[in-house]
Amino acid sequence: MSEETDRNTRPKASIEQRVVATKEALIDAGRITEADLDQFAHMAQDWRPENGAKVVARAWTDPDFRARLLEDATSACAEMGYAGPQGEYIVALEDTPDRHNVIVCTQCSCTAWPVLGLPPDWYKSPAYRARVVREPRRVLREMGLQLSNEVAIRVWETSAETRYMVIPLRPEGTQSLTEDALANLVSREALIGVALANPPTR
Ligand code: FE
Repeated sequence: MSEETDRNTRPKASIEQRVVATKEALIDAGRITEADLDQFAHMAQDWRPENGAKVVARAWTDPDFRARLLEDATSACAEMGYAGPQGEYIVALEDTPDRHNVIVCTQCSCTAWPVLGLPPDWYKSPAYRARVVREPRRVLREMGLQLSNEVAIRVWETSAETRYMVIPLRPEGTQSLTEDALANLVSREALIGVALANPPTR
């Protein structure tokens, strides 16, 4: 049996076994240390879409902050304490009544970690990555977001150099809400552009 055939017919290792093997290989090669992994796991707890929601709420309530966010989202997010790996090149995309923005990474699954958190499974799926580019309106509708045909949809591809976040429209009837209450209306899906900000609960 050739080595190639052997490789193809050998039973596959479980995900857990592959994770351990990959980790050991990287440590053996001197590419990472156990301490790096611990630090990463610790930092990852701070990367949450709630951070992006707070950024959006501030942009809705503070015109100067909104201007800084649209000018340079990396530094505006850092102002609020949201910075770190995969957050070096954040660009904020503001929805308008006639233009809706949505984010994808067709190559893999990039998100701006400090403000969106690690990517959800659906964002990583080949179906989302391939289809949202070709038929965004239909994909959004399937995900529960029905946009009027009057609203243009702009799809933005993240890359190693640019990580986007969407600033959704501020819902009607939220004039009296505090910044914290406004942040609660903004989901991770809204920050990616596959949902709108939620209406306020009465
Ligand atoms: Fe990616």
